[in-house]
Amino acid sequence: MKRAICIFISLALCLCAGCARTGKVNKTLFAMDTVMELSAWGKDAQEGLDRAEKLLQELEETWSAQKENSLLSKLNKGEKVALTDRQQALLDKMEELSVYTGGAFDPKLLAVSTLWNFTGETHAVPTNDDISKALTLKHWDLGAALKGYAGQQAVEILETLKIDRALLNLGGNIQTYGKKADGSPWNIGIQNPDGGDPVGIVAVTGTTSVVTSGDYQRYFELDGVRYHHIIDPATGYPADTGLRSVTVICEEGLTADVLSTALFVMGLEKAATFWQEKGGFEAVFITAEGEIYATAGAKLSGCEFEVISYEN
Ligand code: AMP
Ligand code: MG
Repeated sequence: MKRAICIFISLALCLCAGCARTGKVNKTLFAMDTVMELSAWGKDAQEGLDRAEKLLQELEETWSAQKENSLLSKLNKGEKVALTDRQQALLDKMEELSVYTGGAFDPKLLAVSTLWNFTGETHAVPTNDDISKALTLKHWDLGAALKGYAGQQAVEILETLKIDRALLNLGGNIQTYGKKADGSPWNIGIQNPDGGDPVGIVAVTGTTSVVTSGDYQRYFELDGVRYHHIIDPATGYPADTGLRSVTVICEEGLTADVLSTALFVMGLEKAATFWQEKGGFEAVFITAEGEIYATAGAKLSGCEFEVISYEN
């Protein structure tokens, strides 16, 4: 009898170890002002997600524009701060991407966004004068890029630990890593700007970032007008280009995040030209009329849409 119990316990322990080796680990946390849901599979999946959580919190501590003592806030106050090579490289990349997008992505719009006060309780449309002044201030805000960058950095951690695969949902910024066990693609839903079920699904494989910028994510309404959080740097007003959302699909999280914001500001036509000229990513656009457009390489399904091809 004792022997039978021993065998049973050893078997159970073996199965558990097997489970830990290949099983799925989940983690939900709040960072960067949003709920994040992380899932990972593989032997060191728990360690991977623990390290990813630490990374997300460190990035927030460093780059939050809202935390008074963050490195970013100190930079914005003009304090002398020593930057690590990695930190300097991120800021350099921000400037570079701003130029790359013809200024549609502008990582120094903090004063303008603060003026609009999208997250506050009370709302008013700022005066033209105040907007003009705010546009001159050039205070850093990495809000349009940080979650994408975080996803990319998290992948580095998972790679080092040789995790089998992972699916990171950083407040709607999706980062996949590795291949699914059955070889099928990851299916990522594209949110309906009016809520409810996703409007369609994009299929991606391996390490890919799927990031959406939309006018429904942060906004207020006054006199029937929606004022949303994606600012046209040329005017200081919410970008009014007839789009409800832009989803960008590409390998690098930072690029996907930056481009989703920038393409929203550009509008459909300019964004399509940008895609044709620069390449390296795919995109899905939802217009104010509810039409859906997808670049030729976006593996979109589950909805009717028009394809943007290279010949257009
Ligand atoms: P996202 O949701 O990634 O499109 O980022 C929007 C956030 O980025 C806003 O809440 C602002 O903090 C900031 N932002 C707004 N407009 C821009 C812009 N044109 N370029 C860069 N950052 C922006
Ligand atoms: Mg963005």
